[in-house]
Amino acid sequence: MSVTLLDGRALSREINQAVKRQVATLSRPPGLGVILVGEDPASQVYVGRKQRVAEALGLLHVQRTLPADITQEALLAELDALQGRDDIDGVLVQLPLPDHLDADAVALRLDPAKDVDGLSPVNAGLLALGRPAMVPCTPAGVMRMLERGGVPLSGKRAVVVGRSNIVGRPIAHLLEQANATVTVCHSRTADLAEEVGRADVIIAAVGSPELVRGAWIRPGAAVIDVGVNRLEDGSLVGDVEFAAAAERAAVLTPVPGGVGPMTIALLMENTLRCALARGAAEGR
Ligand code: NDP
Repeated sequence: MSVTLLDGRALSREINQAVKRQVATLSRPPGLGVILVGEDPASQVYVGRKQRVAEALGLLHVQRTLPADITQEALLAELDALQGRDDIDGVLVQLPLPDHLDADAVALRLDPAKDVDGLSPVNAGLLALGRPAMVPCTPAGVMRMLERGGVPLSGKRAVVVGRSNIVGRPIAHLLEQANATVTVCHSRTADLAEEVGRADVIIAAVGSPELVRGAWIRPGAAVIDVGVNRLEDGSLVGDVEFAAAAERAAVLTPVPGGVGPMTIALLMENTLRCALARGAAEGR
């Protein structure tokens, strides 16, 4: 079986170009506000990438870098100030937060109209009800890749490994809304190999290097690898055993170069959508 690799870099470039063209027509640049707490190296890299893309597309990018020991109250006050700005259309708080901070309280405080990563209870609830408004960027990127890969979903068996609020759970909702029959697996799943082996579509979002073995995968399945794991030698691998999976899957995403760039592209698209909804008009 010959595998088709889905190129997230190429697809994200297309999305970015479309956003850039539309931004150039607007009366004002869409504004993205990003809060980074502490000095987690991976978070610094992600935030840096988002800034570079945002600026390349003509967005206003405002970053607040806050000390790792900031109090919950002070963090919420910073969030209020950033999302209260008229020139900011979308706000993102980079996760994970230091242990003493409550990410749920941050999600609760997000203005749903500016919640570009769809984490507020309002946006998460609308998605769960089948009325998606602002869909989290990574799940939206995964769905866009499946669409581009021509992967049929209706009536198919999909397995999502991972049930976080930011990745696994929203992906499961989106797949179910696309009429797949969805199984969600997690750390207590009794027989992961068996669940994965039944699936036509496999989404791996765990954060465990090569957890999903190639031999588990049903020949012809579509496999989207959301995981990003840095090994001791500095290399990056996903949650799927890539080389062995490529022997069996019909469609597969690489790590890096798969879902990662799509997450950033969808962040830009979501920020543009927020700006349009808040009245940024064409006519520059
Ligand atoms: P979380 O740690 O929040 O969630 C991990 C999930 O995996 C949990 O639901 C957990 O189960 C489940 N899990 C843990 N161990 C196992 C196991 N042995 N078998 C089955 N399930 C297991 O991670 P995130 O959802 O935030 O991220 C997942 C991965 O995706 C990470 O590698 C992250 O770096 C990557 N990521 C990539 C992005 C991209 O743009 N490419 C964006 C965001 C994340 P339980 O609920 O029972 O604890």
